[in-house]
Amino acid sequence: MSSTAGATAPLVECRGLHAGYGSVAVVQDVDLQVMPGEIVALLGPNGAGKTTTMLTIAGELPPLSGEVSVLGDGSRRPLFRRARAGVALVTEERSVFMGLSTADNLRLGGVSFDTAVGMFPELEPLMKRRAGLLSGGQQQMLTLARALGRSPRLLLADELSLGLAPLVVERILDVVRAAANDHGVGVLLVEQHIKRALDIADRALVMRRGRIVLSGTPAEIRDQIGDVQSVYLAGAAPNAPSKEHCCPRAGAGGRDRCVDGSA
Ligand code: ATP
Repeated sequence: MSSTAGATAPLVECRGLHAGYGSVAVVQDVDLQVMPGEIVALLGPNGAGKTTTMLTIAGELPPLSGEVSVLGDGSRRPLFRRARAGVALVTEERSVFMGLSTADNLRLGGVSFDTAVGMFPELEPLMKRRAGLLSGGQQQMLTLARALGRSPRLLLADELSLGLAPLVVERILDVVRAAANDHGVGVLLVEQHIKRALDIADRALVMRRGRIVLSGTPAEIRDQIGDVQSVYLAGAAPNAPSKEHCCPRAGAGGRDRCVDGSA
């Protein structure tokens, strides 16, 4: 596990964050901090508000109220500006150019062969292969190599292991842990594999219906696993608008995207 020096400034600080779509807050009163070298797991059932929280921190959605400071900057910057400052967002959608080779994907991302293969030796024999011909797990390794290879200070990882085989999930989460330990990357991790997330996290927050309902160290959360399970059995945010009448998740890669922009 990493050390999180007390005097160091947080990479993410949310206070009283309300976030959502149009004027409807599906995330309410969220306080959250991520320190350098720390992995904070954000857990909760479908529709709890994890992605909305993540996208607001990334700069893809504006906060409705409350404070969000990312890398010490409390202004409302879009993701591309935050990315330049050292924020990487990785989602379950693989961010690779399917028509390009693995090597060209790395080159275009400004990531060296050595860096990528140092993280994922599995990529070495695949350098000439088109990314579209890689397996889902290989594509996600390439995505993560591209994201971490640019030495971000903050990694926002939203269900990057979705649909992948358990061994691949293990590999990917181990690389995330190593980035935190070895390079001080702060990580906000949304992950459906609760057990694996608790294995690698320093702290965990559990959301239900848009609010944080449990928080603590992985050991503390494991002690309350009964409570965690009941959170998962409970439903989604109560006041969420129907997606047929909602605003888009701007730039979020197309998932859940609606077109009319109304609230
Ligand atoms: P999952 O694990 O299923 O991804 P989540 O915890 O990430 O869920 P969110 O995706 O943040 O939850 O969704 C929180 C609430 O916001 C849900 O009720 C959802 O229906 C609603 N929501 C999500 N995207 C939109 C949108 N584009 N417009 C309106 N409401 C949305």
